[in-house]
Amino acid sequence: MSVVVQECSGCRRKFFPRRLLCGDCDSAAFRDLVVADAVVEEFTHVSGGRCLGSIRLLGEITAMAALIGIEPERGMSIPVRASDAEASSGYAFIPGIAASEAFERTTQ
Ligand SMILES: [Zn+2]
Repeated sequence: MSVVVQECSGCRRKFFPRRLLCGDCDSAAFRDLVVADAVVEEFTHVSGGRCLGSIRLLGEITAMAALIGIEPERGMSIPVRASDAEASSGYAFIPGIAASEAFERTTQ
């Protein structure tokens, strides 16, 4: 299954995961963009031999993803796909707050 990003028909802002309304212009009209690759920003190895990373989609959306079957490096372009098995645990998204703020909230 491909990774699908929404693009707002009003202002062209892109969203992942899906939204019902654009946070910038309040439009409810979106078109789907199929994304085939992403760039690895950061990654870490976690228990169980898994690797989790921060990836950038279309140069503007950051998402967390399980990095499977590759030995990642920062800046590496990788193919991406979503699977039903990974969809529930393969990425996470905290809307509306910066990553550094989210980290502070989870460590307090
Ligand atoms: Zn918009």
